[in-house]
Amino acid sequence: MGAMINTDPIAILRAVTDLCEQQVARPPKIIFMEDAPATYPLRNSSQHKFCPRAYVLWYVSGFRAATERHYSFDAYVSVGTALHEVNQRWAGRQGWLYGMWKCRKCKAVTQEQLGMPLACPSCGHRKMEYEEYSLVQEHTGLTGHCDGIICLEHLGIPDWLLWEIKTTGHKNTQNINFDPFTDQYYYWHYHQANTYLHMARDGWPLDHPSLPEWEQRPGRHPGFPKLAWILHTYVSRDNPTARKHFLRAPSRPHFDADVYPIIVAKEALKQHLLPAPKCQSGADFQARDCPYRYSCFSPALEGELKWDLVPT
Ligand code: SF4
Ligand SMILES: [Zn+2]
Repeated sequence: MGAMINTDPIAILRAVTDLCEQQVARPPKIIFMEDAPATYPLRNSSQHKFCPRAYVLWYVSGFRAATERHYSFDAYVSVGTALHEVNQRWAGRQGWLYGMWKCRKCKAVTQEQLGMPLACPSCGHRKMEYEEYSLVQEHTGLTGHCDGIICLEHLGIPDWLLWEIKTTGHKNTQNINFDPFTDQYYYWHYHQANTYLHMARDGWPLDHPSLPEWEQRPGRHPGFPKLAWILHTYVSRDNPTARKHFLRAPSRPHFDADVYPIIVAKEALKQHLLPAPKCQSGADFQARDCPYRYSCFSPALEGELKWDLVPT
């Protein structure tokens, strides 16, 4: 294992599992991506920023592909958001979630601290929520929000953890196993969390143009150099008390490989070139969430691109 891993992973996962589930003991599951056979494909899409072609199309296709809204979609998203908040508040009250807390009433945001204040320091209101970090990768402008930064130093664990909460159907939560040697697993969840971990570990400029205006402030976040693990918590949407926790080691090579397509895309955009498709067709598994899956393979596409929309 890499030099930065200086704590027994079983001890970390055991501690997290105990904190989350109290008496319910589950066998800990540790994944070392570097040890896993590289049989899974690197993710190119499903977040358009990771497919250079989708990235360029977002600027020059002349339409900002609308996300279709359905009742089920809205319901899933809302339930997912609520379950994130429940988990974050719970970890905040227990005192192992690090970050800023926002008052639901007066909207005041605390300084960074470990654990949630019992009441808003500005107005005394008792409902606070976790203010997720807006991470930026300085060179590419890639942004993302991680679900939390976990510190277990009070338990004698020096490593910090990047937390990603995933909500999924109950059957999925039960079946999920994440053994890269034997199972199909959500490799793209790993790539997302691994990207966030490196962004959060490296630090980021708080005045980066990729950040929305209301988050801009001078200075730079120093990052979290002690981040050494990803904690994935899978929560069942149908039975939110059923959770599974997986500890996964980060990988710099995977991060570099995931960020590289963004550099390619930016260069292509500058030169007014449309990168070749990464998918074989719009039915490709990797295209399933791509807003361009219907237009990407159309012979009419190239003729309809509006290069004058490229920002200078
Ligand atoms: S459908 Fe086209 S644009 Fe979308 S991910 Fe695949 S290759 Fe990229
Ligand atoms: Zn307040």
